Parts: sequence; structure tokens; C-alpha cells
Amino acid sequence: MAKNIQAIRGMHDLRPEQSPLWHYLEARARAVLDGYGYREIRTPILEMTELFKRSIGEVTDIVEKEMYTFADRNGDSLTLRPEGTAGCVRAGIEHGLLHNQVQRLWYRGPMFRHERPQKGRYRQFHQIGAEAYGLDGPDIDIEIILLTRRFWSAIGLDGLELQVNTLGTSEERAAYREVLVEYLRGHQQQLDEDSRRRLESNPLRILDSKNPEMRELITGAPSLMQHLGEASREHFERLCAGLDAAGLSYVVNERLVRGLDYYARTVFEWVTDRLGAQGTVCAGGRYDGLVEQLGGRPTPAIGFAMGVERLVALLEERRDELELGGVDAYLVLMGEQAEAAGMQLAERLRDEVPGISLVTHCGGGSFKSQFKKADRSGARYALILGEEEVRRGVVGVKALREESEQQELALEQLPGFFASAVLERIP
Ligand code: ATP
Ligand code: MG
Repeated sequence: MAKNIQAIRGMHDLRPEQSPLWHYLEARARAVLDGYGYREIRTPILEMTELFKRSIGEVTDIVEKEMYTFADRNGDSLTLRPEGTAGCVRAGIEHGLLHNQVQRLWYRGPMFRHERPQKGRYRQFHQIGAEAYGLDGPDIDIEIILLTRRFWSAIGLDGLELQVNTLGTSEERAAYREVLVEYLRGHQQQLDEDSRRRLESNPLRILDSKNPEMRELITGAPSLMQHLGEASREHFERLCAGLDAAGLSYVVNERLVRGLDYYARTVFEWVTDRLGAQGTVCAGGRYDGLVEQLGGRPTPAIGFAMGVERLVALLEERRDELELGGVDAYLVLMGEQAEAAGMQLAERLRDEVPGISLVTHCGGGSFKSQFKKADRSGARYALILGEEEVRRGVVGVKALREESEQQELALEQLPGFFASAVLERIP
């Protein structure tokens, strides 16, 4: 027998029993984003490699070693998108959405990075992200963080910690960079291999190292806060005041960094200690220099991206408490007459109860085997239609998820019966 072909390492199927949790999360994300006036943008999964080199930067983990890059049949170098911001900015410039305008956009979909697969870290993973263009902040910075908080409560997730920091301007960072490099040079022995490499190319990223052996060195590093100019300091103070006013608690984490020149001022992350090493579920910040760097007019910008797999993993723990929907009714049909009448009945119910999820048994079989299938479908109710019921214009109704007697309803009572059941379910 031929050997089965398996999915690519680090890339996962979404199995049917998993999809309700994803729908739950996606539907709520969309509702929250709608609530703040964000509009969805969909960009291609493939882009020219050059786009990511120019936006994410040559000296980042992503561009150095994580991208899926290949030559297509014309010899163009293409890359599977590793994140969503570059494509969003590219599309914004291409369609004239950014110049002299305010845009609030969001996206979702798969991203690709050739990393070492482990819990919470995959080679195909999914993000939901949002970007706001044309606003300097800090009002929009505050709003976008409030949006993320609203999303946590919309999905019933608590216990996340908000961390914020400021990166100042690129000039302020350049000055800080020298001080930082000097400090790190003084501790050469304590640097791991990655950090030695980054010391020349991207020293700020060293502060973001996940290596526990580097922790002490990083804690002792000089602080960027001390190198901020007046305007950046004020921006950060107003950000913090706005978060305070909204009753949002946060910690200032001076080690929260992004290593590239186009980042500016506000950065934030939402983290949890419930996912082991992969604890960041949402990361965001200001990237005022990027639009210009990609050929557009200077445009201030801020955005964030959430890791859907990590959020799903957190929700998984409480799956039973969540209202995930599912099948409302499974229609059991005994005998030829019932089979014919059953199709009509099912269509009528779908007409009269919008949103109902109804599975009609197909393929015949004994009452016992049909009932077993009804149970396995996860349906709340079995509807039973036999010759006798057809003749009398009634349907047997049996609740499958709780103890109760089978009852009998007249056909015209069915829509009313299910209308309330479906209403209960729809979020
Ligand atoms: P990390 O430091 O964990 O590698 P990152 O800085 O590379 O994260 P971002 O590019 O900021 O991550 O992506 C935003 C979010 O997307 C992350 O906070 C995380 O939740 C999620 N994410 C990033 N990479 C992966 C991955 N390989 N698998 C699953 N989720 C991911
Ligand atoms: Mg990474």
C-alpha cells in the first residue's frame, strides 16, 4: 500500500471539532473591530520578497531565517507572508488609502514562518490584526489598547497582563544604541551566540532575548527611558494617563523592544504565564516610519497582531463553559413516506427559523442506528418522523443533552419551539 502523505511539519489542519472555538473567537473579534469602525482588508498570501526585506528589515529573525521564499516560474522571488502589516501598507499605498486620510483597517489569516515548531509556535499560524493610519496618538494608541481589552472580555478571557513601553524616536534610539552597545561590549562573556551576532546588526533586539541565561545581563542594561526627548516623554505620559483613566492596569516593561528604525514610541504586549515560553498573545506598537520607507508619503501608524492559536489554547481550558453553537436538531426518518415528508419539513423549518442548524438523516437504517447518529452529531434535539407521525401531522421531539421525556409537537408548533432555542444560541 502507498505510504500516506502527511501535513508539513509545523502546519496543522483545523479539524471539524476544533472549528467552533475558532468561529467563536473570529466572530467576536469582528464584532469588536466593527464597534470601533475598523474595516477588513484582505491581501494576497504571497508577496514579492522585496516587500518583507524592506519592511520587516534584513537584520530580523524573520528575514534572516524564517521566511518561506522561492522563485516562481518567471523567476520572481516570492515569499509567503510572515506577518500582515507589510501587505497592508503595500496595499494602502497602492490604492491611495493612506495619504491625508485616517484609516482603521483589520485583517486575519494565515502567516508563515520557518521556526522550530513547539507548543504555541508553528510554521503556519494565524493572526488577527488591526492597523490605524494617519493619527499621531497618543489618543489612538489608547483606543487601540482599549479595543484589545474589550476583545478579551468579549471572549471571556481574563488574567492577561498588559505591558507597555516607549521606543522614542529613531534619533533617540540611535543615541541609546551607543550606550547599550558599550554596556554589552563590557559583558561580552555573558552574551550568547545570537546576541553576539546582534551586537553589531541589531543590539536592541538583544533586550528581547528569550534566553534565561541572559536575563541578569538584560536587567542590568541602561534604560532607553533615560534617553527620551521631551516630546516622546510627554507622549508616553499621556498614554499612561489615558490607560489609567480607562481603569486599565499595566506594567511598564522597559525590555519590550522592536529593533527597527521605523518603530516609534508606543509598544505594547498582552502576555500570559499560562502558555509556557510562548506567552505573548498580542503584540503591537507604533510604526510611524514604515509607510514612507515603503514609498508612500510620511504617515503615522499603529497596529497590533494577535496569535489565534495561542488564544484558542487559552480558551480550550474553558471550552465547556463557552456557548459554541452546534447542531440544533437531527431529524430521524422511519419509512419511505417519512423520508419524503422529512425533506419538505426540513426545508420548511430552515425557511421559518433563520439560523437553525438542522441535520436530516440520509441513507436509511434502523431506528437505533439513526438515533445513535443523532446523538453523535451533538444535536440538542432529535426529531422523529415515522409513518404514524406523518399521518397525524406531528413530530416526536426528544432532548438529547438532558433527561426528559419524549414529547409530541404538531408541525405548526415546531418553528416556534426552535425559534427560542436558536435565539438562545446566537451570540
Ligand atoms: P515571538 O517573540 O514569540 O517569536 P514575535 O515577536 O515574532 O513573537 P509578532 O511578529 O509580534 O511575534 O507576532 C504577533 C503575535 O503572533 C505573537 O505575539 C504571537 O501571539 C503570534 N505568533 C508569532 N509567531 C508565531 C508562531 N510561529 N506560531 C504561533 N503564533 C505566533
Ligand atoms: Mg518570532
